[in-house]
Amino acid sequence: MALTVAVHKLTSCSGCQLAFLNQGPALLSLMEKVTFVHFIEAGLYDPNTPVDLALVEGSVTTKDDLERLKQVRAHCRYLVTMGACATSGGVQALRNMANVDVWKRAVYARPDFIDTLADSTPVAEHVKVDFELWGCPVTQAQLDQLILQLSRGVLPKDDAEKVCMACKRAQQVCVMVTRQEPCMGPVVRTGCGALCPSFGRGCYGCFGPSEQPNGDSLANRFAGLGLQPEEIVQRFAGIHSHTPSHQAQIKRWQQLIVKEIE
Ligand code: SF4
Ligand code: SF4
Repeated sequence: MALTVAVHKLTSCSGCQLAFLNQGPALLSLMEKVTFVHFIEAGLYDPNTPVDLALVEGSVTTKDDLERLKQVRAHCRYLVTMGACATSGGVQALRNMANVDVWKRAVYARPDFIDTLADSTPVAEHVKVDFELWGCPVTQAQLDQLILQLSRGVLPKDDAEKVCMACKRAQQVCVMVTRQEPCMGPVVRTGCGALCPSFGRGCYGCFGPSEQPNGDSLANRFAGLGLQPEEIVQRFAGIHSHTPSHQAQIKRWQQLIVKEIE
């Protein structure tokens, strides 16, 4: 029997939902394996019917996000996060490094109209998550694997291998070694087949931290390439700033920025 699926959105840009819908002909063959029950971006609204799989896009940023997330968890067998926002807090988690009231006053003409939590947090900080799809956005291959494995009653294997491994398998020339281009490949997980190095640019880490990341070593290498502390912070703060391994480097190099100003 086809898996019943609900796709929910919390705070996000909807890019992962669009990546889902943009699969083209592959989406049609996927439809043979799943029955969508709720997917607002595709015109289906039925958030509370129990489903086999709830895919959640977006971080928890408002009280409403949190309440809806609890309802999602109560109405599904498997809950899987879809993309960077749901899995690590996303780009919007950058605000966790500052005071939310200061941001509200700086950005909005009427900050008193803005009802938001102090932080942007990943789904797993609030409810049980069965599997995480990293990526900004997620890829068709990730979604296909997930649906295929769940149709067989198992969860996919989490692959947190480094981008460098995919880069070497593709026999690409290392941009960091040959061109002194800062690359996050040694500390972030692949999922793209090392796409950016194949175009001669460094990876900026859209799939999040890898297994056993050695951030200290890579950040020291960045400094050796001439990056200033604020540039190193920017590399680690890009998309997954709320993850522990990236946070460690952000804090480490932020201290040096302050010392330079002093
Ligand atoms: S280009 Fe980047 S991802 Fe490729 S081997 Fe070098 S450091 Fe690793
Ligand atoms: S930023 Fe890194 S992980 Fe993202 S597509 Fe480019 S190489 Fe792949």
